[in-house]
Amino acid sequence: MRYAETGFNLEIDLSRGNIERVETDPRETELYLGGLGTNTKILWDRVPPEVEPFSSDNLLIFSTGLLCGTSAPGCNRTIVSTISPQTLLMAYSMMGGFWAPELKYAGYDKVIIRGKSPNLVYLWINNDKVEIRDASHLQGKGAIETAELITQELKEPKAQVSAIGLAGENRVYFASIEQGRSSASRGGIGAVMGDKGLKAIAVRGTKDINIARPAELMELCNEVLKYIQVRAENPIKGVPPILAGLGSPQEMAVHDEEWHTTNFAWGNARYRKKDYWTEEVAKKWTESLENARERFVSCYNCPMKCGATINVPGVPTYMMKCYSKLTYTMAAMSDLDFGFRIAQRATEYGVDAFSTPQTMAFALELYENGILTDQDMPGMPSDSEGRFFWLLDRIVRREGIGDVLANGTYWAAQQIGKGAEAYAHNNIKKHEQLPLKLGMLNPVYFLMYCTGEKINITQIEGQFPQAPFPTREQREAFVKDWIQVPDEKFKQYFVDWELRGENSIPYYPTVEMTCEIVDWQERMHYIDDALGMCAGLSSFPLKPPYHIHNYPKFISSGAGIDMDEAKLSQAAKRYRTLVRAVNIRRGMRRSDEKPPEDHWKKRFPELEAQLLDEYYKFKGWNHQGIPTKESLHELGLDYVSEDFLQRGILTDDEGIPSKETSAEKEKK
Ligand code: SF4
Repeated sequence: MRYAETGFNLEIDLSRGNIERVETDPRETELYLGGLGTNTKILWDRVPPEVEPFSSDNLLIFSTGLLCGTSAPGCNRTIVSTISPQTLLMAYSMMGGFWAPELKYAGYDKVIIRGKSPNLVYLWINNDKVEIRDASHLQGKGAIETAELITQELKEPKAQVSAIGLAGENRVYFASIEQGRSSASRGGIGAVMGDKGLKAIAVRGTKDINIARPAELMELCNEVLKYIQVRAENPIKGVPPILAGLGSPQEMAVHDEEWHTTNFAWGNARYRKKDYWTEEVAKKWTESLENARERFVSCYNCPMKCGATINVPGVPTYMMKCYSKLTYTMAAMSDLDFGFRIAQRATEYGVDAFSTPQTMAFALELYENGILTDQDMPGMPSDSEGRFFWLLDRIVRREGIGDVLANGTYWAAQQIGKGAEAYAHNNIKKHEQLPLKLGMLNPVYFLMYCTGEKINITQIEGQFPQAPFPTREQREAFVKDWIQVPDEKFKQYFVDWELRGENSIPYYPTVEMTCEIVDWQERMHYIDDALGMCAGLSSFPLKPPYHIHNYPKFISSGAGIDMDEAKLSQAAKRYRTLVRAVNIRRGMRRSDEKPPEDHWKKRFPELEAQLLDEYYKFKGWNHQGIPTKESLHELGLDYVSEDFLQRGILTDDEGIPSKETSAEKEKK
């Protein structure tokens, strides 16, 4: 019997209109867990590097996490994986909400889409009955509107619908997939969905899933719920309010935006407004938030209520997602009211709230500097807010200059030329980042930006505080109940971290410590992405309820897999390395691994090179960031090194390692 997972995937070929229910191999779950782990294995096996993002051979995989649908609080993520049109690398964006548990209850772990439909269609998964249905009447409709129309049409108000808006239909490189109260936004996965002619996937499931040891799992869940309560009553001292609690980093309950508005950059990631947050602004923003916010909402099986429905006069009600609250506001140098109004339209269009405002701010900077002219922007309003709405409409329709901007700042700059490349400065691996402009290089963040393949800093950071606390007493107090550390040494690293002097950035944490901290933070995110856990309860906040010590128990009692910390860490390392292998095979190398150009004022080239060198060694990668034959063997990934040797990616003969691999041990 299969526990926690259903043991079946749906394979949909949109070119042929074929639907298959395919049993999966439980040994793959042992090795790669589920969610991101098994998605990556499928992409490695079935999407060779010659396949372009908009090829019918590219796969678009919607996956539940291994523990989605169990009683584990907050375990509701849908992991969508494909090859990104923006980065040309693997994209693996996540969404919360309700969709993944519903798919499990319908009897499937994944929906794997291949091919392209000649006409716009949507998929209707109703337990065992699966249909490809005409969606021509939904063409051009907003993502949220589409979900409503589909549930009405199906007479299934409880169906969960993931849909694209106009941006996805028009293959905008930063198009998202929206799902009522959440979205999978990074990497242009909505564009791949649009390219496949797939407007939406509606799902309704009423089956049960099996749990290996239900009483044990319930006990663990109750511990987590109790801990969430304790953390709510005891916010972490000495950090901005936004970092003091659990859940989404941009809770809709938080009025105090001093930290974001003064530390993050405005416009095209250029300016910091250090004196922006005044009493007057705080009062105005509080009023805006209180007036607009209708009610708080949570994702499936979570008490946190991070999101909120927003109701602004003249604008349909919608759900505000995370940091979207500020991205448009700050890019347009405007205020929160404007942010609320434009975010509704952007959500219906289905676009990524990091990339879209930055692409528009980039265009306006080009215009101000004469690189784009009135001829490129005919009829553009004169005010900043009007310009943002005007640009948004053109981008999602790919009209005029919008057709160029719809490819994101990196590709748009290449197309525009005339020095536009210098204005596309806030990217890593061709993808827009959070707008930040800081002083001194931070070694931990440097490595995370360079080597992160989720292409989003918030999807790798967490666990270790972002900055030292001012006094040793405060740091000692912080580490007292820091049960989440995988090793006691991290406590000492933090206690010794000073704001100034020898033990301060950029040379402290030391290179060795930095490698360990980054590896820990990254590992937790990768575990979440395989299990389907919300990062807001695990890898992102300080002192979360889920951690390396209790996760193995959840997996053992829920999925019936004999798990311990070492084995879990090794599994995460295995599929994390496989993600890198997919990208290496697609041409990613050391030269791609750098932070946004303008991110830190003070840079340290020698230290940066040393950090990359040592981290690569730490991870078992060679000087180019390519996993070595030895490290691949150790992880049971010999098939990767064979492929690398055939393609000439690895050429050196490192000999045949004699050690038994972790994969071999697990098979015994
Ligand atoms: S913590 Fe917030 S974002 Fe995460 S599952 Fe709960 S409600 Fe959703």
